[in-house]
Amino acid sequence: MFTSVAGRTVIVTGGGKGIGKGIARVFARSGANVIITGRDEETLATTAKELTAAGRVVDGVAGGVVSYVVADVVSAGDAARVAATARERHGGIDVVCANAGIFPSATLAEMTVEDIDTMLGVNVKGAILSVQACLPELIASGHGRVILTSSITGPVTGFPGWSHYGASKAAMLGFMRTAAIELARDKITVNAVLPGNIVTEGLSSLGADYLASMEGAIPMGRLGEVDEVGYAALFLASDEAAYITAQSITVDGGQILPESPAALE
Ligand code: NAP
Repeated sequence: MFTSVAGRTVIVTGGGKGIGKGIARVFARSGANVIITGRDEETLATTAKELTAAGRVVDGVAGGVVSYVVADVVSAGDAARVAATARERHGGIDVVCANAGIFPSATLAEMTVEDIDTMLGVNVKGAILSVQACLPELIASGHGRVILTSSITGPVTGFPGWSHYGASKAAMLGFMRTAAIELARDKITVNAVLPGNIVTEGLSSLGADYLASMEGAIPMGRLGEVDEVGYAALFLASDEAAYITAQSITVDGGQILPESPAALE
Protein backbone atom coordinates (compact mmCIF):
# COMPACT_ATOMS: atom_id res chain seq x y z
CA MET A 1 0.00 0.00 0.00
CA PHE A 2 1.08 3.58 -0.72
CA THR A 3 4.24 2.53 -2.57
CA SER A 4 3.15 4.04 -5.89
CA VAL A 5 5.31 7.17 -5.53
CA ALA A 6 8.51 5.12 -6.04
CA GLY A 7 10.36 6.52 -9.05
CA ARG A 8 7.99 9.48 -9.35
CA THR A 9 9.10 13.10 -9.27
CA VAL A 10 8.01 15.32 -6.40
CA ILE A 11 8.59 19.04 -5.95
CA VAL A 12 8.48 20.39 -2.40
CA THR A 13 8.65 24.17 -2.10
CA GLY A 14 10.28 25.28 1.14
CA GLY A 15 11.76 21.78 1.42
CA GLY A 16 15.07 22.80 2.95
CA LYS A 17 13.77 22.82 6.52
CA GLY A 18 10.70 22.46 8.69
CA ILE A 19 7.57 20.73 7.43
CA GLY A 20 8.83 20.77 3.84
CA LYS A 21 11.91 18.82 4.90
CA GLY A 22 9.69 16.27 6.64
CA ILE A 23 7.56 15.90 3.51
CA ALA A 24 10.67 15.54 1.33
CA ARG A 25 12.16 12.92 3.68
CA VAL A 26 8.99 10.80 3.68
CA PHE A 27 8.79 10.87 -0.13
CA ALA A 28 12.52 10.07 -0.54
CA ARG A 29 12.19 7.14 1.86
CA SER A 30 9.28 5.96 -0.28
CA GLY A 31 11.49 5.90 -3.35
CA ALA A 32 10.49 9.18 -5.00
CA ASN A 33 12.94 11.60 -6.59
CA VAL A 34 12.43 14.90 -4.81
CA ILE A 35 13.37 18.44 -5.77
CA ILE A 36 13.34 20.84 -2.83
CA THR A 37 13.25 24.61 -3.31
CA GLY A 38 13.86 27.67 -1.18
CA ARG A 39 15.94 30.84 -1.12
CA ASP A 40 18.85 29.71 1.06
CA GLU A 41 21.25 27.59 -0.98
CA GLU A 42 23.37 26.41 1.95
CA THR A 43 20.34 24.98 3.76
CA LEU A 44 19.05 23.34 0.58
CA ALA A 45 22.41 21.74 -0.24
CA THR A 46 22.81 20.35 3.28
CA THR A 47 19.25 19.00 3.36
CA ALA A 48 19.48 17.46 -0.13
CA LYS A 49 22.61 15.56 0.90
CA GLU A 50 21.11 14.41 4.20
CA LEU A 51 17.82 13.28 2.65
CA THR A 52 19.46 11.53 -0.29
CA ALA A 53 21.40 9.47 2.24
CA ALA A 54 18.07 8.62 3.92
CA GLY A 55 16.33 7.92 0.58
CA ARG A 56 15.51 4.42 -0.61
CA VAL A 57 15.09 2.47 -3.80
CA VAL A 58 11.69 0.76 -3.54
CA ASP A 59 10.89 -2.40 -5.50
CA GLY A 60 13.96 -1.86 -7.68
CA VAL A 61 12.57 1.40 -9.13
CA ALA A 62 15.25 4.11 -9.38
CA GLY A 63 14.50 6.87 -6.92
CA GLY A 64 15.11 8.22 -3.45
CA VAL A 65 17.32 11.05 -4.70
CA VAL A 66 16.82 14.57 -3.34
CA SER A 67 18.22 17.56 -5.23
CA TYR A 68 17.52 21.27 -5.00
CA VAL A 69 16.79 24.43 -6.96
CA VAL A 70 17.24 27.88 -5.42
CA ALA A 71 13.94 29.62 -6.11
CA ASP A 72 11.66 32.23 -4.57
CA VAL A 73 7.99 31.22 -4.73
CA VAL A 74 6.85 34.79 -5.41
CA SER A 75 8.67 34.75 -8.77
CA ALA A 76 6.86 33.26 -11.77
CA GLY A 77 10.24 33.03 -13.53
CA ASP A 78 11.68 30.99 -10.66
CA ALA A 79 8.64 28.70 -10.70
CA ALA A 80 9.13 28.09 -14.43
CA ARG A 81 12.81 27.33 -13.83
CA VAL A 82 11.91 24.78 -11.14
CA ALA A 83 9.54 23.00 -13.54
CA ALA A 84 12.11 23.04 -16.36
CA THR A 85 14.78 21.64 -14.05
CA ALA A 86 12.50 18.79 -12.95
CA ARG A 87 11.86 17.99 -16.62
CA GLU A 88 15.59 17.92 -17.36
CA ARG A 89 16.57 15.91 -14.27
CA HIS A 90 13.71 13.43 -14.10
CA GLY A 91 11.66 13.77 -17.30
CA GLY A 92 8.53 15.22 -15.70
CA ILE A 93 6.64 16.05 -12.51
CA ASP A 94 4.09 13.86 -10.72
CA VAL A 95 3.55 15.65 -7.41
CA VAL A 96 3.76 19.30 -6.35
CA CYS A 97 3.79 20.06 -2.64
CA ALA A 98 3.20 23.82 -2.33
CA ASN A 99 4.51 24.13 1.19
CA ALA A 100 6.68 27.26 1.42
CA GLY A 101 5.14 29.78 3.76
CA ILE A 102 5.79 32.46 6.33
CA PHE A 103 4.02 33.42 9.54
CA PRO A 104 5.30 36.75 10.91
CA SER A 105 2.93 38.14 13.53
CA ALA A 106 1.19 41.56 13.50
CA THR A 107 -2.10 42.61 15.08
CA LEU A 108 -4.72 44.09 12.79
CA ALA A 109 -4.19 47.49 14.42
CA GLU A 110 -0.44 47.44 13.73
CA MET A 111 -0.37 45.66 10.36
CA THR A 112 1.15 47.57 7.42
CA VAL A 113 0.18 47.26 3.77
CA GLU A 114 3.58 45.70 3.18
CA ASP A 115 2.90 43.08 5.90
CA ILE A 116 -0.32 42.09 4.11
CA ASP A 117 1.28 42.06 0.66
CA THR A 118 4.21 39.94 1.83
CA MET A 119 2.01 37.40 3.64
CA LEU A 120 -0.43 36.96 0.76
CA GLY A 121 2.39 37.13 -1.80
CA VAL A 122 4.37 34.22 -0.35
CA ASN A 123 1.56 32.04 1.02
CA VAL A 124 -1.14 32.48 -1.63
CA LYS A 125 0.44 33.81 -4.81
CA GLY A 126 3.51 31.64 -4.16
CA ALA A 127 1.41 28.50 -3.95
CA ILE A 128 -0.60 29.32 -7.07
CA LEU A 129 2.50 30.14 -9.13
CA SER A 130 4.23 26.94 -7.97
CA VAL A 131 1.31 24.79 -9.11
CA GLN A 132 0.63 26.73 -12.32
CA ALA A 133 4.21 26.37 -13.57
CA CYS A 134 4.04 22.58 -13.24
CA LEU A 135 0.67 22.07 -14.95
CA PRO A 136 1.93 20.72 -18.31
CA GLU A 137 4.03 18.08 -16.52
CA LEU A 138 1.27 17.21 -14.04
CA ILE A 139 -1.16 16.70 -16.92
CA ALA A 140 1.38 14.59 -18.84
CA SER A 141 2.00 12.37 -15.80
CA GLY A 142 -1.57 11.03 -15.94
CA HIS A 143 -1.78 10.91 -12.14
CA GLY A 144 -0.79 14.43 -11.09
CA ARG A 145 -1.05 15.39 -7.44
CA VAL A 146 -1.08 18.82 -5.81
CA ILE A 147 -0.73 18.98 -2.04
CA LEU A 148 -1.00 22.35 -0.34
CA THR A 149 0.33 23.05 3.14
CA SER A 150 -2.44 25.15 4.64
CA SER A 151 -2.94 25.31 8.44
CA ILE A 152 -5.59 24.92 11.12
CA THR A 153 -5.10 28.70 11.59
CA GLY A 154 -7.53 30.40 9.22
CA PRO A 155 -9.59 27.47 7.89
CA VAL A 156 -10.57 26.32 11.42
CA THR A 157 -9.07 28.47 14.19
CA GLY A 158 -7.79 31.97 14.87
CA PHE A 159 -4.89 33.37 16.87
CA PRO A 160 -4.17 37.03 17.74
CA GLY A 161 -1.51 38.47 15.44
CA TRP A 162 -2.31 36.19 12.58
CA SER A 163 -5.39 37.62 10.87
CA HIS A 164 -3.41 38.07 7.63
CA TYR A 165 -1.82 34.63 8.02
CA GLY A 166 -5.21 33.03 8.68
CA ALA A 167 -6.60 34.79 5.61
CA SER A 168 -3.74 33.42 3.51
CA LYS A 169 -4.20 29.83 4.71
CA ALA A 170 -7.99 29.94 4.19
CA ALA A 171 -7.36 31.40 0.71
CA MET A 172 -5.28 28.34 -0.15
CA LEU A 173 -8.37 26.18 0.40
CA GLY A 174 -10.43 28.46 -1.85
CA PHE A 175 -7.78 28.00 -4.53
CA MET A 176 -7.82 24.25 -3.94
CA ARG A 177 -11.56 23.84 -4.61
CA THR A 178 -11.69 25.52 -7.99
CA ALA A 179 -8.33 24.16 -9.12
CA ALA A 180 -9.58 20.66 -8.24
CA ILE A 181 -12.58 21.08 -10.54
CA GLU A 182 -10.52 22.54 -13.39
CA LEU A 183 -7.93 19.75 -13.22
CA ALA A 184 -10.14 16.75 -12.46
CA ARG A 185 -10.51 15.66 -16.11
CA ASP A 186 -6.72 15.53 -16.34
CA LYS A 187 -6.73 13.09 -13.41
CA ILE A 188 -4.98 15.61 -11.18
CA THR A 189 -6.12 15.81 -7.57
CA VAL A 190 -5.67 18.92 -5.44
CA ASN A 191 -5.74 18.44 -1.67
CA ALA A 192 -4.36 20.06 1.47
CA VAL A 193 -2.76 19.19 4.77
CA LEU A 194 -3.71 21.34 7.76
CA PRO A 195 -0.92 21.14 10.32
CA GLY A 196 -1.52 22.15 13.91
CA ASN A 197 1.59 23.02 15.90
CA ILE A 198 4.52 21.14 14.38
CA VAL A 199 8.06 21.48 15.72
CA THR A 200 10.01 23.36 13.04
CA GLU A 201 12.69 26.00 12.87
CA GLY A 202 9.98 28.57 12.09
CA LEU A 203 7.68 27.54 14.95
CA SER A 204 10.55 27.39 17.43
CA SER A 205 11.39 31.02 16.61
CA LEU A 206 8.07 31.97 18.29
CA GLY A 207 9.67 31.17 21.67
CA ALA A 208 9.53 28.62 24.47
CA ASP A 209 6.44 30.22 26.11
CA TYR A 210 4.45 29.89 22.90
CA LEU A 211 5.50 26.26 22.42
CA ALA A 212 4.62 25.37 26.04
CA SER A 213 1.20 27.03 25.82
CA MET A 214 0.44 25.17 22.59
CA GLU A 215 1.50 21.84 24.06
CA GLY A 216 -1.02 22.42 26.88
CA ALA A 217 -3.81 22.97 24.33
CA ILE A 218 -3.28 19.70 22.44
CA PRO A 219 -5.22 16.61 23.62
CA MET A 220 -2.29 14.35 22.69
CA GLY A 221 -0.09 16.46 24.95
CA ARG A 222 2.72 17.02 22.46
CA LEU A 223 3.59 19.07 19.42
CA GLY A 224 3.64 17.35 16.04
CA GLU A 225 6.68 16.15 14.10
CA VAL A 226 7.39 17.19 10.53
CA ASP A 227 7.36 13.62 9.21
CA GLU A 228 3.80 13.24 10.54
CA VAL A 229 2.69 15.88 8.03
CA GLY A 230 4.75 14.05 5.41
CA TYR A 231 2.80 10.82 5.93
CA ALA A 232 -0.49 12.62 5.23
CA ALA A 233 1.02 14.12 2.08
CA LEU A 234 2.30 10.69 1.01
CA PHE A 235 -1.19 9.21 1.30
CA LEU A 236 -2.72 12.04 -0.75
CA ALA A 237 -0.01 11.50 -3.41
CA SER A 238 -0.59 7.76 -3.65
CA ASP A 239 -2.52 5.92 -6.36
CA GLU A 240 -4.87 4.75 -3.59
CA ALA A 241 -6.00 8.39 -3.10
CA ALA A 242 -6.82 8.92 -6.80
CA TYR A 243 -10.54 9.53 -6.10
CA ILE A 244 -9.99 12.06 -3.30
CA THR A 245 -9.84 15.70 -4.37
CA ALA A 246 -10.39 19.13 -2.77
CA GLN A 247 -10.18 17.63 0.71
CA SER A 248 -7.97 18.41 3.64
CA ILE A 249 -6.32 16.26 6.30
CA THR A 250 -5.83 17.90 9.67
CA VAL A 251 -2.61 16.82 11.41
CA ASP A 252 -2.88 18.41 14.85
CA GLY A 253 -2.99 15.83 17.66
CA GLY A 254 -6.63 16.79 18.24
CA GLN A 255 -5.88 20.47 18.86
CA ILE A 256 -9.05 21.78 17.23
CA LEU A 257 -11.34 19.50 19.25
CA PRO A 258 -11.74 20.97 22.77
CA GLU A 259 -14.79 23.23 23.17
CA SER A 260 -13.07 24.94 26.09
CA PRO A 261 -9.92 24.47 28.25
CA ALA A 262 -12.16 22.48 30.64
CA ALA A 263 -12.25 19.68 28.06
CA LEU A 264 -8.56 19.07 28.69
CA GLU A 265 -8.74 18.96 32.49
P1 NAP B 1 9.88 27.18 8.45
O1 NAP B 1 10.58 26.23 9.37
O2 NAP B 1 10.07 28.64 8.67
O3 NAP B 1 10.23 26.81 6.95
C1 NAP B 1 9.66 27.59 5.93
C2 NAP B 1 10.17 27.11 4.59
O4 NAP B 1 9.57 27.92 3.57
C3 NAP B 1 11.67 27.25 4.47
O5 NAP B 1 12.17 26.15 3.78
C4 NAP B 1 11.83 28.51 3.64
O6 NAP B 1 13.01 28.45 2.88
C5 NAP B 1 10.60 28.47 2.75
N1 NAP B 1 10.23 29.79 2.24
C6 NAP B 1 9.77 30.85 2.94
N2 NAP B 1 9.58 31.89 2.11
C7 NAP B 1 9.91 31.45 0.87
C8 NAP B 1 9.93 32.06 -0.40
N3 NAP B 1 9.56 33.34 -0.60
N4 NAP B 1 10.31 31.31 -1.47
C9 NAP B 1 10.69 30.02 -1.30
N5 NAP B 1 10.71 29.40 -0.12
C10 NAP B 1 10.32 30.12 0.96
O7 NAP B 1 8.31 26.97 8.50
P2 NAP B 1 7.42 25.65 8.76
O8 NAP B 1 6.94 25.73 10.14
O9 NAP B 1 8.11 24.47 8.25
O10 NAP B 1 6.18 25.99 7.79
C11 NAP B 1 6.06 25.40 6.51
C12 NAP B 1 4.63 25.55 6.04
O11 NAP B 1 3.77 24.93 6.99
C13 NAP B 1 4.16 26.99 5.92
O12 NAP B 1 3.32 27.12 4.80
C14 NAP B 1 3.39 27.22 7.20
O13 NAP B 1 2.40 28.20 7.06
C15 NAP B 1 2.78 25.84 7.40
N6 NAP B 1 2.37 25.54 8.77
C16 NAP B 1 3.30 25.36 9.76
C17 NAP B 1 2.88 25.02 11.02
C18 NAP B 1 3.84 24.72 12.16
O14 NAP B 1 3.38 24.45 13.27
N7 NAP B 1 5.12 24.70 11.95
C19 NAP B 1 1.52 24.92 11.31
C20 NAP B 1 0.60 25.13 10.29
C21 NAP B 1 1.05 25.42 9.01
P3 NAP B 1 13.99 29.71 2.64
O15 NAP B 1 14.05 30.49 3.92
O16 NAP B 1 15.29 29.10 2.22
O17 NAP B 1 13.41 30.50 1.53
